[in-house]
Parts: sequence; structure tokens; C-alpha cells
Amino acid sequence: MKRILVAGAGHGGLAAGAILAKNGFDVTVVEKEQREALGHDWEDRFTFSLLTELLGIAEADLPEGCWRYRGDCAFVSPAKRKKVVIRYTEETRQKIMWRKPLLNLLLEHAEKCGVKFLFGVEALGPLTENGKVTGLSTAAGDYAADLVIDAAGVFSPVRRNLPEAYGIEKDPRPGDLFYACRAYYDRLPGFETPDAPFEVYLYHEGERGLSWFGANEDGCDVLIGRTYPLTPKKVEEQLAIFRQSHPWLGEKVLHGGQFGVIPVRRPLTLLVDDGYAAVGDSAFMTTPMNGMGIDLSLQAGKLLAETVLNNRDRDFTAEVLWAYNRDFHRLYGGDTAKNEGLKNALLSLPGQGVDFLFEAEVIQSSDLAGAGKNTKLSALLGKFVRGMRQPKSFFTILGGLTKGAKAAKLYKNAPARFDRKAVRAWSDAIEKLDIRFYSSAN
Ligand SMILES: Cc1cc2nc3c(=O)[nH]c(=O)nc-3n(C[C@H](O)[C@H](O)[C@H](O)COP(=O)(O)OP(=O)(O)OC[C@H]3O[C@@H](n4cnc5c(N)ncnc54)[C@H](O)[C@@H]3O)c2cc1C
Repeated sequence: MKRILVAGAGHGGLAAGAILAKNGFDVTVVEKEQREALGHDWEDRFTFSLLTELLGIAEADLPEGCWRYRGDCAFVSPAKRKKVVIRYTEETRQKIMWRKPLLNLLLEHAEKCGVKFLFGVEALGPLTENGKVTGLSTAAGDYAADLVIDAAGVFSPVRRNLPEAYGIEKDPRPGDLFYACRAYYDRLPGFETPDAPFEVYLYHEGERGLSWFGANEDGCDVLIGRTYPLTPKKVEEQLAIFRQSHPWLGEKVLHGGQFGVIPVRRPLTLLVDDGYAAVGDSAFMTTPMNGMGIDLSLQAGKLLAETVLNNRDRDFTAEVLWAYNRDFHRLYGGDTAKNEGLKNALLSLPGQGVDFLFEAEVIQSSDLAGAGKNTKLSALLGKFVRGMRQPKSFFTILGGLTKGAKAAKLYKNAPARFDRKAVRAWSDAIEKLDIRFYSSAN
């Protein structure tokens, strides 16, 4: 029986592991934390149908109390002069689920499908032989495997120690990461819930990043996020500023309070090689504008498992695994590249430039509702006259979208088959577009 090791109990690894174990593979997840420590103490937005389809249950079967709807949303411009409000309908209302029950559902499902777990065991890197991945080196010893699925998150030591010849990008570059601190505080009585209770502040207090303030019936959900590492002092400062504008924000932490890092860039171009495949944050799979990674992680896990099952020889060579790499980018890579272009262009503007885009309605609710996914070059050109009042800001956004569109085209034309030279040339062509944002704070 072929042996698969999943490094880290990330969402995509659990999804792939469950499908593969159910289909006769020997799958073991190596997770550095104990089971009860897994999952953040906060709620996340993602597409519930992706989860329920994977679990083979109806949405009505989700455990009671593990999810709720989020209210209408207001995007606030840097100078706080303009708010763009997004009203959701019955069909479009955003659903959020607590992270621990979400992970529990995935863990229990994986166990039922036959996945084994080694909790409290840290993966240190890949085992290699003749330049190929042949297993995992862990704090509890070496484990051989036919395939290592890397689901160990943004700082995965497996990805970072891959053989050079794989050509897989090892480290995120400055501007690729978003640093956040999130906590739920008590809500002081005597204040009305705002009309749009979920507020997102772009360039919050003039700094690169965003913060949000969600006024729930039972507390206040506050996220402070920046493009550079946060300190507890910085978070306290920002909370004090929030307390002036939101006097109902209490001091008692009800949930969360942890710091987290999210990759906010297009995914790795090369996701696989002999004996290795990356899914989720370890492959930087998020929507860069809003840092949502659960959907892409689950989609990647499913696609990888399908690729493995479609191969009659049950082989794990780069040639076989490439179908997953190619299909992921054809389906999702292009859109995330476009989104990164827009995000980086916005971040390279000064706060006043973003204010202008809001005030001149170059950025509208349709752009913000889709986290920039609906912002197309053609739509932006339709706003040309309004944009020309501040050509520099307008053309920066246009430039970001143009580069993003070029990268998207390349992602969508990923080589059909794995040929090391051709695949590297394709990856280099995307790299050359250099649509990154380099933060001076890094
Ligand atoms: C504040 C915050 C809010 C977010 N909100 C949302 C949201 O609303 N919606 C959304 O879709 N996404 C959200 N995200 C992003 C989301 O958390 C990730 O994109 C998503 O979890 C996918 O990552 P993953 O499952 O691949 O990896 P992770 O969730 O990082 O899981 C990696 C796993 O690997 C384990 N691990 C790490 N290193 C090792 C090692 N050396 N050995 C063994 N195990 C290891 C970790 O303990 C962990 O269990 C948010 C992130 C943050 C920080």
C-alpha cells in the first residue's frame, strides 16, 4: 500500500488525506500541536458548500451554534470621509463559522475515512534521497513516504528545505505577508448596533494594512492588521483609537487575542515535484485582498486527491502530480494573480491616493464586495474621466491590474505536461512580471 504523509493538519491536507485514505492509501498526518490546541478561537468566512460537500452532509446537519450570519459591511476610506456600504440579500449574506468546530469536522471526517494522526510531532523538513523527497524528518524520527503533502502553513519547514533542483520558492518576500491580531471584546451596554455592523478600515490610521470592527450582539470582533509585524504595543495603541470612535468597545477579551500571519499573494507557481505537493498556506493560496485561504485550501486538497486517484499506476512523480499543479492554476491561480496586482497597486499608493479613489468613486461597492475580484480593466477604463482628476493614482491601479492580467494569462496557460525546462521557463516568465509590493517597513 502506498504511504502518504501529510505535514501539518492544514485544511487542504485534511481534505486530501480523507479522500485518499477512503480510496485505500495509507495516510498519516504529522501535526506539531496537540489535537485540542488546533484552530483559532475566532470565526472565519468561507464557502460552506465546499465543506459540506467534502463531508458528505447537508448544511442543515452542521452542528448547532457553530456558525452565524455576518451583518452588512461598510468599507471606510483612509481619511474616514467616505464609507462604501455593502448590503447583503438573503442569498448573499456572509456566513462565518468558529474555527475550532470547522477543524473538528475536518479531523473527525478524516479519522472516519481512515487517516491516522501523530499529534505533538513537529516536522523538521523533507527526507531526501538522490535529490528527491522520500519522506519527512520529524522531531520524533524519520518517516518514509511515497508522497508528502505539505499542509504546514505559511512557514512550512518542508517547503523551506526542499531540494534546490525543485526550483520551488522557499520564502515569502517582503510585502507577501499580512500580520494580524484578532480578539473579541465585551460590549458595553447602552449603545445601538451600527446600521452596517461590520466595518473595514483601509489604511487604518494612515498605516499600510487594514483593520476591522464587527459589532456583534455578544461582543466586538476587532482585527488589527498591517503589512509589517505587529507588536502588542501597536495593537494597544490602535485599540485605544478604536475606543474613542466606538465607546462600546470593552476591555475584556472574550475570544482570540492571538497574532497570526497570512500570505497575501498569488500562489506558488510550482506546487509539486517528485514525491511532494503543497496545498493551502504552505503554497500561499489565498485571495490576496482579503486573506481568505480556507476555500482555496479545500479546493486544492480535493484537486490533488483527484489527480492521485486519476493515475492508474499510483505514482507520485512530478509528471503525475503536475496535473494538480496545472489544473489548480488554470482554475484559481489566474484570479489570485489579478487580485494580487490590484492589492499591491493599492498598497503602493499613499493614503490620500486611496482616499481619492473612494471619493471619485473609482472604487465602488461592486469592487469591494468581491474583494477586487470584480474589478476588471474594462470596468476601470469606464471610470477614466473620473480617474483623470488624479492621474498618478489612477494609472497606478491601472498598472497593477495590467500586470495582474498578464500574470493571470500565464497562470491559465500553465504547461499541459511536466517538462522541467518548460515548466521552469513558464514559472520564470511569471516571476519576471514582478507584481510584488515592497514595503519600506520590512
Ligand atoms: C487573523 C486571521 C483571520 C483569518 N480569517 C480568515 C477567514 O475569515 N477566511 C479564510 O478563508 N481564511 C482566513 N484566514 C486565513 C486562513 O487561516 C488560512 O488561509 C487557512 O487556514 C489555510 O491555511 P492552511 O490550512 O493551509 O494552514 P494553517 O491553517 O496554517 O495550518 C497549518 C497546520 O500545520 C501545523 N504545522 C505548522 N508547522 C508544522 C510543523 N513544522 N510540523 C507539523 N505541523 C506543523 C500547524 O500547527 C497547523 O495546524 C485568517 C487568518 C488569520 C491569521
